[in-house]
Amino acid sequence: METQVKFSKKDKVAILTGAGISAESGLKTFRDNNGLWENHPVEEVATPQGFNRNPRLVWKFYKQRASQLKKVEPNPGHYALKKLEDYLENNFNLITQNIDELHSRAGNKRILHMHGTLQFCICTKCGKRYKMGNIDLDEEIPKCKTCRAKLRPDIVWFGELPKYLDEIQSIMKSINYFIVIGTSGVVYPAAQLLQIAKQNRVYTIGVNLEVPLNMKYIDEFHQGKSGEILPKLVEQWINIVKENS
Ligand code: NAD
Repeated sequence: METQVKFSKKDKVAILTGAGISAESGLKTFRDNNGLWENHPVEEVATPQGFNRNPRLVWKFYKQRASQLKKVEPNPGHYALKKLEDYLENNFNLITQNIDELHSRAGNKRILHMHGTLQFCICTKCGKRYKMGNIDLDEEIPKCKTCRAKLRPDIVWFGELPKYLDEIQSIMKSINYFIVIGTSGVVYPAAQLLQIAKQNRVYTIGVNLEVPLNMKYIDEFHQGKSGEILPKLVEQWINIVKENS
């Protein structure tokens, strides 16, 4: 499907990305893997209950994710969004559910990591926040330097409240386009943002390998791999304007 959209520099655009945009970099999603995250049930490695039951296993899992991240690179989908930010500047906002930081590495600046990132961890008792690089990762369960309680990755797990909800809410009120990429529409409250966009009469665009669960809220859908589709779409979104202006 051809895009119906051309962006002027005055358009206010928000993007929501999920695990799918990083799939072509070699990072597995949940849904394509029967609800498993790198072969682990999400209840085991991405819930507070899982951490309380077995903090060693949870730390082992996120240490593996961190070392895996060192071996992967952003893909053309990430770089296309950097190009879009360069064009829209302050009218661009990227909200991501991903914890992998590949958007930052592609050069995007206006990013809200609503589920946190693998870069930080936090004390379960006093709340002190550490850069992963500043703690002793040789410890099976790293401890807080101040109160010696367990540290945990500063990642939003299932059942916990996402970060930046106020900022996201105000972005959703300000935009005229909302683009959803590589997300199944299953994980709330991220999945609800499409519905909010439609209630606000915002034009919505989806890019996804499969038809997402909340398809009824998408005005324009492009099915396929974001690494292949996004570079072409961004080219059309920003070039059409140049030709006409
Ligand atoms: P999800 O796994 O539920 O869904 C991924 C979606 O991406 C699917 O609908 C799939 O069809 C689509 N997809 C797969 N490959 C694609 C491609 N090449 N191009 C476009 N679409 C593609 O992911 P979600 O909705 O983001 O929810 C999962 C949760 O798990 C998030 O909260 C996230 O924090 C976490 N997670 C993060 C990562 C990461 O940081 N890379 C990886 C796995 C899970």
